Amino acid sequence: MITLDYEGIWKETLIQLQNDLREEEFSGWFSDIKYLRADGNNIVVGLPSAFHRDKVKNHYQNLIDSKIKVISGDDVLIKYEITGKTTEKETVQVKSPEKNEGSAANTPVKTTKTKEKREQHPQMRDDYTFERFVKGENNNFAANAAFAISKNPGKAYNPFLIYGGVGLGKTHLMQAIGNHIHENSDLRVICITSENFLNEYLDGLGQNKMSIFKNKYRHTDVLLIDDIQFFTDKPGVQEELFHTFNALLDAKKQLVFTCDRPISELKKFSDRLISRFELGVKADLQPPRYEERCAILISVANVRGVSISDEVIDLMSKNISSNVRDLIAALNNIIAYTELMGKPITVEIAQRHLKNIFSASRQANLSMDSIIRVVAENFGLTPNDLKGKKKSQNIVSARQLAMYIGREMTEYSTTEIGQDFGGKDHTTVMHSINKIKGKLLTDPALDTTIDNLKRSIKEYSAKH
Ligand code: ADP
Ligand code: MG
Repeated sequence: MITLDYEGIWKETLIQLQNDLREEEFSGWFSDIKYLRADGNNIVVGLPSAFHRDKVKNHYQNLIDSKIKVISGDDVLIKYEITGKTTEKETVQVKSPEKNEGSAANTPVKTTKTKEKREQHPQMRDDYTFERFVKGENNNFAANAAFAISKNPGKAYNPFLIYGGVGLGKTHLMQAIGNHIHENSDLRVICITSENFLNEYLDGLGQNKMSIFKNKYRHTDVLLIDDIQFFTDKPGVQEELFHTFNALLDAKKQLVFTCDRPISELKKFSDRLISRFELGVKADLQPPRYEERCAILISVANVRGVSISDEVIDLMSKNISSNVRDLIAALNNIIAYTELMGKPITVEIAQRHLKNIFSASRQANLSMDSIIRVVAENFGLTPNDLKGKKKSQNIVSARQLAMYIGREMTEYSTTEIGQDFGGKDHTTVMHSINKIKGKLLTDPALDTTIDNLKRSIKEYSAKH
């Protein structure tokens, strides 16, 4: 059995409480609590008075318990002892966050181990639920797999990896799994960004508290880690993740990760870690198409209790195609504006007010020009080679690829794409796209080439 560093756990709890609470709350109620000792699986702390103890129990017990549980990964309880007035500080009257209850010392203390509905998990957003996640062709598989996992954690689809571009719902879907499990079971869920995981790991190393770190992450029932591309080129934490991964998988605990690209394209990632990811199920999220964009807008407007006409939905869905985040941000923006002005959301207002957003989103949208440039350069050709009529094999393949990617990455029609390629006919573009589709069936490496090109195109257009 691993022995826990109880004092370390308490210190970490205080740090987290300090982060969560208002300054006067924290200094009023927690600065006089002293760590005394460990007693079995309990942490014993001392307080200046029974009044102080009961205040803490009544107002902060649930919060303290949830912190300790997440930090220790165990059912560590906290016990209080009255140690008397050790400082003058505790006589300072601090305003209670709720109404004053002078007789609190005599009132029975609420126990925290009730079987009522669990409190919202402190590491997840309460609105990232399945109910609020709009399904469509672009995310069907990912959403269904996620839902199956939340019904049966550790059994089906383990480990589960959600990948896709920015703002497409990776974090939402991952937290929906966590929220569902947290709400419907007693299982322990840890949800963390890769950045925080790394920071905790480094803290653990630096302060000789690795046992706390290991104990926390290797003894949870469900571990959700967001944006693992962040671990690129960080071998130490990758090694730690590898062991955490194995311990949890052996114990049939559920693992869920998100990543902004397919695992196979993570560079500077240890092979054995990649092969662990390859064991599981991978689901990608694609950008929403027009229909899905409409459905998302309708759903968000419903939740906000705002009525919004089909014309406005159509206008917005047609103009904002980058990702779900931008779409929702635009809607929130226009709702805020019309509420402030006390006006309904009309097409005219939407058009006028969102003009800036639309043009920004168009800009964020890729131009055919950058696609042609990046693809040409990748094959050692010039943009004019792709726009011209030369029929040599390498030029034709690069041209077809650029047209295919153009169709995939932009909303341009085949006619518009043809124009950007030196005035070619839309049937030529269709033909090229079909050629690539055919090749994709027989040449798996082409898929990777295309993904790499898409990434370079995004990087290029972000800089230009
Ligand atoms: P990612 O992690 O992929 O960058 P997020 O999960 O942060 O994206 O999603 C961005 C925003 O879009 C969030 O507000 C999220 O709730 C919303 N969102 C994404 N996909 C959907 C969807 N299918 N239905 C409803 N809201 C969505
Ligand atoms: Mg995210």
